[in-house]
Amino acid sequence: MRFPIPFGILGSLLFSTAVLAQPTAKVKPKNPANTLPEFSLSRAEAEAHMRFLASDELQGRRTGDPGNLVAARYLAEQFRLLGVKPAPGQSTYFQMVPMQRYLAPSPGFVLVGRDTLRQGTQFVSVSPTKGELAGQTVYVGYGLADGPEGYNGRDVKGKIVVAQVGSPDAASGGALLAASQQKRKLAAEKGAIALVELYTQASYPWQFLTRYLSGEQTVLTPPSEGPGLPHIWVDNGKNQLSSLKDADQTVTFRTSGRPRTDLQTMNVVGMIEGTDPALKNEFVLMSAHYDHVGVGKQGGQPYTPADSIFNGARDNAIGTVGLLMAARALKAQPPKRSVLLVAYTGEELGLLGSKYYAEHPLVPLGQTIFNLNVDAAGYNDTSVVSVIGLDRTGAKAELEAAAKAFGMGVVGDPSPEQGLFDRSDNVSLAAKGVPAPTFTPGFRKFDESLARYYHQVADGPDTIDYGYLLKFCQAYAHAARLIGNRPSRPQWIAGDKYEAAGKALYK
Ligand SMILES: [Zn+2]
Repeated sequence: MRFPIPFGILGSLLFSTAVLAQPTAKVKPKNPANTLPEFSLSRAEAEAHMRFLASDELQGRRTGDPGNLVAARYLAEQFRLLGVKPAPGQSTYFQMVPMQRYLAPSPGFVLVGRDTLRQGTQFVSVSPTKGELAGQTVYVGYGLADGPEGYNGRDVKGKIVVAQVGSPDAASGGALLAASQQKRKLAAEKGAIALVELYTQASYPWQFLTRYLSGEQTVLTPPSEGPGLPHIWVDNGKNQLSSLKDADQTVTFRTSGRPRTDLQTMNVVGMIEGTDPALKNEFVLMSAHYDHVGVGKQGGQPYTPADSIFNGARDNAIGTVGLLMAARALKAQPPKRSVLLVAYTGEELGLLGSKYYAEHPLVPLGQTIFNLNVDAAGYNDTSVVSVIGLDRTGAKAELEAAAKAFGMGVVGDPSPEQGLFDRSDNVSLAAKGVPAPTFTPGFRKFDESLARYYHQVADGPDTIDYGYLLKFCQAYAHAARLIGNRPSRPQWIAGDKYEAAGKALYK
């Protein structure tokens, strides 16, 4: 399919009078930009990628499940077909991302004096190690240090360490859990046999917490965990277990620990070498997550026996189709800078694939000059594309020109109150200093027309506007090309919250 030449771009072009003067010249396009490969991408190809990636057969591409692995395989083999190479120094397109999935713990109990505490009601296991033991308690404050606030010289060898949940400055849930892991490591090093933490935090109600810690949870595998120790959090919201702060209380464990399994999943990474001898050492990173949320109750939203698959056509097959279509155009005629194509796994579980990539980049982040991420919730205005971070990341002119080349406008963050900039994979690299907006289908506000599909079983390939999908992919490819050809690197605008990280990264 040939896309009509938009009028907007014509005015800005230099006409070759030589070409215009030759009436016999063989259909030489008037518009040089229009000969670029992204102008002749095929709608059928975009639709074929979409119908495969968002198919029922891929079962919602849940991280680590077969549909997720098939999607990764598909992306890698499409890269191969296009002549896209693995990342520098790599022999495969796969970057394995080690993850663990915690599963629901089995019933168990803990005896404290005459009280019997039950798993999931009065206590939750937070370590995988099961407990079948009894011992005497030692209270150590927060249990994070040796000084008067912590162990204070107490011998805990062979004892059950009791500590307060959190730390003097841990406020968020993540910080509480991180402090908890640190305490377990320290207690194990000091020869304790188990760790009990007293939960009194007001920020998260105990019921919320038990539900969270008793359900399934997937995390990046920590680099080193140290020795295992039975480790529980107990509800002390009403100070009902204050006796545990007294020395030498007897506590008996009969707990299963939190069972877990290792997951196999990967980022898919390819590269297209730039044409400029110097600039090709700089990379424009194009990214999109390819995972989604799965089937049935895994999706966390209503479903029926007739339709239980969360196809994730918008979220985010649109993004991965964009990557593949851009790969075709940019491979056919590369820009001056090199392009790194990264399809992330684990986004729906907390940006895990991109967080892992940011810690283990396959091209140094100092050479990664820009990240154009695609993540799609849905669209309700097909005359535009939306760019979350448009005014912040220093490439507004290129992003606007790219959309205009395909007859579209650009709108910036339409729902700043949703904090979208910090809720997609772009933030993993933004936090490291890389200017990283998210390119997303046109939407004016998060209304019913988006909510109908967003994380719903209805988000299937039959509901996609394929004419718009093609234009969206074309604009995405063209934007990367324009940024890849820029004489200077895009910069964070002055005063942006990630500006300092950028200065440190590129100094
Ligand atoms: Zn999502």
